[in-house]
Amino acid sequence: MTQKIALEEHFLSPGFEDYWKTTAGEITPDIFRQAVARLAEFGDLRLGQMDRDGIARAVLSIAGPGVQIEGDTAIAVRRARESNDFLAREIAKRPDRYAGFAHLPMQDAKAAADELERAMRDLRFVGAMINGHTNGQYLDHPSLYPFWERAEALGAVIYLHPADPPAAMPALEGTYGLKRATWEWGVETGSHALRLVFSGHFDRFPRATLMLGHLGEMMPYLLWRFDSRAAFYGVKLARRPSDYIRQNIVMTISGMYSAEPFDCAVGAVGHQRIMFATDYPFEPPGEASEFIDHVPLADDVRADICFNNAARLLGL
Ligand code: ZN
Repeated sequence: MTQKIALEEHFLSPGFEDYWKTTAGEITPDIFRQAVARLAEFGDLRLGQMDRDGIARAVLSIAGPGVQIEGDTAIAVRRARESNDFLAREIAKRPDRYAGFAHLPMQDAKAAADELERAMRDLRFVGAMINGHTNGQYLDHPSLYPFWERAEALGAVIYLHPADPPAAMPALEGTYGLKRATWEWGVETGSHALRLVFSGHFDRFPRATLMLGHLGEMMPYLLWRFDSRAAFYGVKLARRPSDYIRQNIVMTISGMYSAEPFDCAVGAVGHQRIMFATDYPFEPPGEASEFIDHVPLADDVRADICFNNAARLLGL
């Protein structure tokens, strides 16, 4: 079994259940209870699964959306800080097995930048996870430039995690099971990341690093089309969209344990930009490691995807 670093491994801080509950409406009460129990646990249950999966280190992040749906900015700032302090105390009990992504109050760019800096400098976190838009505002918004300046200066990896869209998509209404993780989150999150690419965000912040789950939220499959249509519509960028996707975006395999999209992503962006994640506790136990341990790959490529790429990028 290949040694691994896992990058989308969720937890809940005390009192954060109500934020999370807003995105968990379709989950049965039984599964909800089990998920909350696992999210709030940092001992034998979680470590035992990591051992079975060959995960040396899990980078923990809040199960979204957290304070990003908080209407009161002062409360968001305070509770994000409390959550990061809580996680830091848990990591301190097992610093050999855990690391952390900061939770940020994106309602306030300066407060978010300050908290990111505090989390990385004082708490030794390795970056941040942002759960989609914040009360309808996306990450390309000019009011957030001070945040991105700081993230770039800190060398922070920003993991853009799925969240519900600000408004329901009419095509997904009904009872077909297309909302949220089936399709809606992928469209929303891929669109969010493309706003950064097509708005020239990475011309403005060339050293920014965005991390996406789900093998890049469908982007690797569409690189040629983005370039083709950007030229067709006269999009003003210094480089092709695919260049930014290859140079400013990295991706994890979270929730995508299938060879066809995996091979597509490796071919499109290169295996050095792809990393391991299990989306604990939202995927069946063992499925991610079972996939990556057995998908046909050269041993050195497998080791890079499972461990070395993340170790290098995050300084672990
Ligand atoms: Zn997740």
